[in-house]
Amino acid sequence: MADQNNIEEFFNVEWISCDICFLFGQDHFDDTKRIVATAKKEELSIIVVIKEGRRSVMFFPEENNDIRLYTFSLSEYPHINFWEIKQLLSLISYESKYGRKVGFAFDSPITNAIFFEAVKKPGRFMREIIPNRINGCGDCNNKVCITKYVCFTTNIETTKNIFQNGMIKYTDCISTDTIPESSKFIFFKWGNCLIGDLLLSELNNEDEDYNFGVHFYFKYKDLYNYSGAEFDGYNPVKIPEISNLGEILTACVIPKKYYSKIFSCIPENLQDIVYFIDDQDCQKIEDWVQIAYETMVENDI
Ligand SMILES: [Zn+2]
Repeated sequence: MADQNNIEEFFNVEWISCDICFLFGQDHFDDTKRIVATAKKEELSIIVVIKEGRRSVMFFPEENNDIRLYTFSLSEYPHINFWEIKQLLSLISYESKYGRKVGFAFDSPITNAIFFEAVKKPGRFMREIIPNRINGCGDCNNKVCITKYVCFTTNIETTKNIFQNGMIKYTDCISTDTIPESSKFIFFKWGNCLIGDLLLSELNNEDEDYNFGVHFYFKYKDLYNYSGAEFDGYNPVKIPEISNLGEILTACVIPKKYYSKIFSCIPENLQDIVYFIDDQDCQKIEDWVQIAYETMVENDI
């Protein structure tokens, strides 16, 4: 009887290299407990789960923060496209760099077969360039990531520091990210993504007067080639430090109510690209993200 219970406890695992394995099971991957138990047994740090209808999110399924689950959404489930493959290959190389092992648990044999072939010949996917739009995102306005710009979102106190220093340091980033060494990076989300403001509002949930975040926008291609840029397969890009802010910033959009508090701190070389926008008509975070994004696009000539 005990043996029978043990059989149910873990998924079957096939290792294809020192760092990567695939989980297999007769039933599908709904059983998080069993996934975590398998991860512990195999000493995995992260398990990427692809199931229909899941949004992309990385989280700790248990209170101990050793094992992460990353549900990865596909724009055309169960087909996994070249860009999505590249994302997961970036995740593998990033995690291996820190000595961590990755498990993949895919519900569909179609996803499994395509990705299984891809990891055996990863070279050709690494040249894949990002599409302009990524469909089916659960975090961006209108469910589409628009990839021309990325955004760093922060509060007004940190904005003051950034302006006074003329640079963004990793210490300016409120690290609520789930990747262990994230505190050493500034992480960026797509220009029209809601996550930055959602995180700020969560951190301020005691404070009834939560105000919308300040948005620093950059062109993705500029940060893609920036010194120290890292690609973890989760954030669009992360960077330890932006030292030449004046040369690389596309725009900064700030809620107008902060004008008197912050205007005198803005360095001269940034004054033309800092915009104060009225957020009084914004009911929700979506509204603020939209209006801030549109302001930046209109002014980026
Ligand atoms: Zn998105």
